[in-house]
Amino acid sequence: MELNLKQDEVIDRYFTEAVAWRRQLHRCPQPAWLEYYATGLVAEKLTEWGYTVSLGKDVVDSEKLILSPTTEKHNEEFQRALQFGVKEKFITPAKGGLTGVVGVLKGSQPGPTIGFRFDIDSNEVCEASDPGHRPAREGFASQNPGYAHMCGHDVHTAMGLLLARYFAENREAVKGTIKFIFQPNEENLSGAAAMVSAGVVDDLDYLFSGHVGINVKRTGQIALNVNNFYALSRFEVTYRGRASHAALRPDEGMNALLGACAAVTNLYAIARHGTGASRINVGTMTAGTDWNVIPDRASFKLETRGVTDEINNYMVTKVHEVLKGAAVMYGLELEIKPGAVSCGGSNSPELVAISSKVAQVLPSVKEVVAEASLNASEDVTAMMERVQSRGGKAMYVLFGTPVAGGHHNAAFDVDENVIANGAKFLASVYKEIMNG
Ligand SMILES: [Zn+2]
Ligand SMILES: [Zn+2]
Repeated sequence: MELNLKQDEVIDRYFTEAVAWRRQLHRCPQPAWLEYYATGLVAEKLTEWGYTVSLGKDVVDSEKLILSPTTEKHNEEFQRALQFGVKEKFITPAKGGLTGVVGVLKGSQPGPTIGFRFDIDSNEVCEASDPGHRPAREGFASQNPGYAHMCGHDVHTAMGLLLARYFAENREAVKGTIKFIFQPNEENLSGAAAMVSAGVVDDLDYLFSGHVGINVKRTGQIALNVNNFYALSRFEVTYRGRASHAALRPDEGMNALLGACAAVTNLYAIARHGTGASRINVGTMTAGTDWNVIPDRASFKLETRGVTDEINNYMVTKVHEVLKGAAVMYGLELEIKPGAVSCGGSNSPELVAISSKVAQVLPSVKEVVAEASLNASEDVTAMMERVQSRGGKAMYVLFGTPVAGGHHNAAFDVDENVIANGAKFLASVYKEIMNG
């Protein structure tokens, strides 16, 4: 196979700009459903480059805004995006949390529809400020206290923009339709489902996405055979009992805290499924009112995961049994509110094969890692599942970069060359699919 590597030159030409976009995004991180700045920046650039841009309710189903922040918080972050310089017309459709952008470029010749998905949300983490941390040292650390891009989604967004810039420059080579999907709220595993529900991936024949720095820690490494996407289910659980005097009449109380504790210890004791990995975690618990009061209320947040949908479903069934059992034991009312759900996923083997061919001859790829386990959940599986169930093909790639601090750590950082490497790889795979 021979690749015409002119694309590498075009991508290299815009690389400096792409690094600047990444740093702009890094300075104004916004988490789940509040990504007004990224939405405005991306929408403006795609529009300028000739993409047909869709925003707001056309790209996100408002019924699926799980755990959307308060109106005050939305207004605050909306204003912040304006202060950081985005144009109001590009973020007005997103008001209320309908963040995210879809940009479409139609080629002059017929062909399939290929989607590229990039996530845009930040983490709720305070970024390191010591000079050992490069964003702090070089003046592009977060200026939005409490939030920071500590998972690299600013890098993903810049990679997507660089790729979009490349296709805009080479429009005559575009066959069929290219669709860029900039997705909100990956971290709470809710953004992809909201976009799927709005029909964003229904026309895709191919879908590509990926992540930087997970399991591939050297620049130039790439992992194509990615597996172990964990299916996930989250719940908010509340037990309600009856308060009473802890000394005078403990017998008249119904102890919600005790019920919750019994539930939690037994949740961790669920027998593990024999056919593959599963996980369970109770991450927070709040209960009770005072020293001498039998607690009448206890609530906690819980999640299950399984390496397949079947294993996760097994965990969810067992969770319900345990929760109900503890309620009966202590005479409590039980409320279970479902949170985010993420399905399992797998790369389409045809795309892994095409990508492997491309990776072998691409100068920016130094090493193809034979197989990589994600061992985490990624809500892009909702998009992959929809595309694959409609007969399309989907693939998730891991792009290599050294990672300072580790993902979600205050000192997280990457080698920015991964922005260009990712764009080059995706541009080459596109070419191979079209001309293969
Ligand atoms: Zn993350
Ligand atoms: Zn991430």
